[in-house]
Amino acid sequence: MKLDILAIGVHPDDVELGCSGTLINEKRNGKITGIIDLTQGELGTRGTIETRYAEAAKAAEIIGVSVRENLRMRDGFFKNDETHQMQLIRAIRKFRPEIVIGNVLDDRHPDHGRAGHLISDACFLAGLAKIETLDDNGNPQLKWRPKFVLHYLQDWYHEPDLLVDISDSFEQRMESIKAYSTQFFTDPTGKEGPQTYISTPDFLDAVIARARMLGKRIGVKYAEGFITEKKIGIRSLDSLVLVET
Ligand SMILES: [Zn+2]
Repeated sequence: MKLDILAIGVHPDDVELGCSGTLINEKRNGKITGIIDLTQGELGTRGTIETRYAEAAKAAEIIGVSVRENLRMRDGFFKNDETHQMQLIRAIRKFRPEIVIGNVLDDRHPDHGRAGHLISDACFLAGLAKIETLDDNGNPQLKWRPKFVLHYLQDWYHEPDLLVDISDSFEQRMESIKAYSTQFFTDPTGKEGPQTYISTPDFLDAVIARARMLGKRIGVKYAEGFITEKKIGIRSLDSLVLVET
């Protein structure tokens, strides 16, 4: 299946927190979207591998992606090395996305930055014909380089290069995040398990506040921010005029 947009996250729920509003927008624009999770998030304090798969499937349905795959790298210990790059190159050549949206390049959780660099490197290398890979049936894959790689913001604030208006998809975005009911705040009694950095009400409040703050920068209610390594080119200055400011 060829995808227009492939979102990649090292932990199941990274994509929901980082770019689900944008994925929902693009699905509404008729684009074919998909998600790859690099790990199963097996080191997470709350929940199990099974509950996270069920939550990821529910979130995928809410976002409306056509495919969601897990590459089963080791949570916390995967590396940006040849073995992991080859694994991701195979996945990129399989789905042939025009745009990849991946983890940020530097963040509180070291997995996020390492994954961000792994994603960027694999997207570039996937376009080199002399790197040979085989598909699931053992047939040689053609080279493929996504036209653009974006990195969504995660815990730390980085000044974004691009802001996307997600006001119309905001409620659906929050539903996709809350699908991870073992991870985020759902029960004030704390009976569901030990509290973590992301399981308190403050965490979801901060997620909403970030979207509000970024939205304000472009004159809309909610936005998601992205960092790019390449410069953004546009065909018409009309793209710059979203709202009356
Ligand atoms: Zn994460």
